[in-house]
Amino acid sequence: MEVKIAAQQKILDYFNKILANNVVFHAYFFYGNEGVGKKTLARFLAKSILCIGVNKPCGVCNSCRKFSNSTHPDYVELGDELGVKQSFSIKEARGMLEQAFFMANDGEYKIFLLKDVDTLLPSAANSLLKLIESPPDNVVFLLTANNKHKALPTIVSRCIQIFVGQASRLECEVYFKSLSLNGSSKDIINLSQGSIGKLIFYANTEEGKLIFNISEKLKLAYINNNEFLFLYTLQRVEKDVVLVLKILDCLLAQFLLLLECNINKHNSLKDTNISKFCSVLNNILNAIKALKSMGNVAICISKLCCDIFG
Ligand SMILES: [Zn+2]
Repeated sequence: MEVKIAAQQKILDYFNKILANNVVFHAYFFYGNEGVGKKTLARFLAKSILCIGVNKPCGVCNSCRKFSNSTHPDYVELGDELGVKQSFSIKEARGMLEQAFFMANDGEYKIFLLKDVDTLLPSAANSLLKLIESPPDNVVFLLTANNKHKALPTIVSRCIQIFVGQASRLECEVYFKSLSLNGSSKDIINLSQGSIGKLIFYANTEEGKLIFNISEKLKLAYINNNEFLFLYTLQRVEKDVVLVLKILDCLLAQFLLLLECNINKHNSLKDTNISKFCSVLNNILNAIKALKSMGNVAICISKLCCDIFG
């Protein structure tokens, strides 16, 4: 039942066919990398199925308004928004089991969005499987997962599978322009690597902009061999360990991109340069590990500077 769709416009076209022919299946499984838009697409499909207007989702009917206000009685989301912990518990799965057998309140369907089903504990996954094996009438399950192979295969095989691919560079550029932002789109688009979620984060949220700007400063400090600026920039945020970790993650991604560019552009890049760069990547990885295990930011930052600048 695999529907391999790589670009999001194709997925939207597919949704239109479902809606035009009123052939709603009882379970859809959206999979693909983090930030590519799986949950956004699943919510769009849910809103469209529930919509009672003409061009679905019309955005103005009673159902669409309730959906937008998160008050639709026939739409339930389960799971952690950021996918940082296991999706949902056995208790929540059982609660859903009970709810699923009640009739829809407003319209024809009752829809459940189940996030990150690849992180479910076996007990919750088995409850979900039972429900998907013999689904109640007029219930639609929308499942998302970053890693299709970590989800229970018996669940996946009972769903229509929709692969959500990364956005193309052109799609990212068009999207960046649509945000009407100032600044360099090139670096942010490179860093986002086809993830619209990451693009929005770095380009259009206060936290993302801060992380991107600080990691840019650190990158330039490294390139210009300015140890003082590198250390000073990190010391200014050292009170917030979570922020420091996010900055180092971003810096690691930036350096990986730099290395990739160098290798692709200059095949003759000297081995010594590559090995120096690789050791810097290891230094950052070690700093991230140390911060996660012991959390003493000042010491980790000083050590990172010593390691990088020798
Ligand atoms: Zn509507």
